[in-house]
Amino acid sequence: MINGRTQLVGLIGWPVEHSLSPAMHNAAFDALEMNWRYVALPVRRDDLDAAVHGVAALGFRGCNVTVPHKTAAGSRVARSSEEARAAGAVNTLVIDRQGSRWNVTGHNTDCGGFLDGLVQAGVDPRGRRTVIVGAGGAARAATVALLRAGASHITLLARDPERAERTANAVSRNSERITAGVLSERGLVRTVRRCSLLVNATPVGMWPDDDASVWPDGVRFPNRTVVYDLVYAPRRTKLLRQAAEAGAKGLGGLDMLVGQGGRSFELWTGCAPPLDVMRTACEAAWGET
Ligand code: NAP
Repeated sequence: MINGRTQLVGLIGWPVEHSLSPAMHNAAFDALEMNWRYVALPVRRDDLDAAVHGVAALGFRGCNVTVPHKTAAGSRVARSSEEARAAGAVNTLVIDRQGSRWNVTGHNTDCGGFLDGLVQAGVDPRGRRTVIVGAGGAARAATVALLRAGASHITLLARDPERAERTANAVSRNSERITAGVLSERGLVRTVRRCSLLVNATPVGMWPDDDASVWPDGVRFPNRTVVYDLVYAPRRTKLLRQAAEAGAKGLGGLDMLVGQGGRSFELWTGCAPPLDVMRTACEAAWGET
């Protein structure tokens, strides 16, 4: 029941109507009998400042931040966690109110959520040469997480090579462990054949474009390369199907979604997240849409 004591958190992004986060967090609040609610808040690119001030003024306890605001949100907060600074991207705001004043702290739970997905699948990133396709917020989090977890080298490929370069520099200036380049079908195939992990950090293959993949049709996927598709809807993307057909191991984005959500939940509430409940809620919500 929503009443005068209900605590609010939400999601700032554009678009947000297809997000699974409201279902995931509200199921967690219900399971723990907490008087909290999570709402989706559609916020256009130019309205980020007003939205951050607005949620703080309205007494929200925090927010998730998604496309297109993850990078910009870092400059709107008084303090950032070490991971958020390293990634140059924020996906979680924690709002502390003391009397008439409030402070907003930025966090990046995508980094930990990304590693949760690898751990759940029993994939150790140590020593792996990795290709990441995409150069946005998810790619930044994945790059930070992989560098810290001991990946030997990361090639960032994006259709805008300058964005790939900016992402590489933002995450690790002058590191010999990162190379940035332009995304092309031939370049991707050549690079993936030299790597043992491919991460798709683009929306390619996401519903409703389920028939799209970053991997070209008619080219056999190298079966020793693990594929980690951060897209979580559909569960089995075309890229994961291509990997499976070649006998390669594939991981979808659901474990990361639940992992990052659980970490945000704990930052806001101080309570251990009911991860099984959150996962089931995502699966059920996806089945309904
Ligand atoms: P973002 O900041 O908007 O970045 C998207 C990246 O994908 C950009 O580099 C963009 O290139 C590239 N891209 C978009 N469309 C493309 C296409 N058709 N071909 C090649 N590249 C394309 O988004 P994000 O936050 O990083 O999210 C990326 C994906 O990861 C989304 O599908 C999101 O749902 C998923 N994700 C999943 C989780 C999870 O918990 N599983 C968490 C975060 C994100 P341009 O710069 O050229 O547009």
